[in-house]
Amino acid sequence: QLPVVITVDGPSGVGKGTLCARIASKLGYHLLDSGAIYRVLALAALHHKVNIDDEDSLCLVAAHLDVRFERTDSLVRVILEGENVSDELRLEKTGETASKIAAFPRVREALLRRQRAFRQPPGLVADGRDMGTIVFPEARVKIFLDASPTVRAKRRYNQLQANGINVNVESLLNDIKIRDDRDRNRAVAPLVPAADALVIDSSNLSIEDVVTQAFAFIDSKL
Ligand code: C5P
Repeated sequence: QLPVVITVDGPSGVGKGTLCARIASKLGYHLLDSGAIYRVLALAALHHKVNIDDEDSLCLVAAHLDVRFERTDSLVRVILEGENVSDELRLEKTGETASKIAAFPRVREALLRRQRAFRQPPGLVADGRDMGTIVFPEARVKIFLDASPTVRAKRRYNQLQANGINVNVESLLNDIKIRDDRDRNRAVAPLVPAADALVIDSSNLSIEDVVTQAFAFIDSKL
């Protein structure tokens, strides 16, 4: 009997990370941040000056990717080839590159096994775009978290402001729309809810509302 998987898919900036952390902590499950894997690959490619339009070279980098996820109390430290890249990983440029290389079918293929290896007892919460459709199609519980681009841009704006970073909300919205468009319209593993996913539109919901709805669904399935 394979360990239980709960998948949470959705666009960028929708709050999947927060929801997944809450689920993992309540159930004592492992956590897969699949976006971080695409981001790490993007960083490795940038560090090694690999042409990010060259699928073959990217596949080679993916096959040899030397990455460790070190879990401390509340945060996960990401070590790429012995170097702590946790901060660099969150940069806009890294996400942008990740989203470009994620459109290559063989790059996605090359990262499949690495993602599935996170399925360990007692269970896994998997955060991404294609967790319920491609990586864990047989997952016990599938959630698709959505929110309008405007709401996501505002949330991101508030988050950055709170950290003392000044940005233009229009440009954030524009970036979100470009990323959405690429993730939703790519030929392989596009961002779509699995047929058996619970779709939660969080545009007008608080985090607590989302967590409550998610747990009602999870409890009915476990
Ligand atoms: O979620 P995050 O913003 O960290 O992901 C970075 C990029 O990686 C996304 O924009 C998406 O293009 C890609 N990605 C993906 N499939 C996943 C997770 C992330 O294609 N399962």
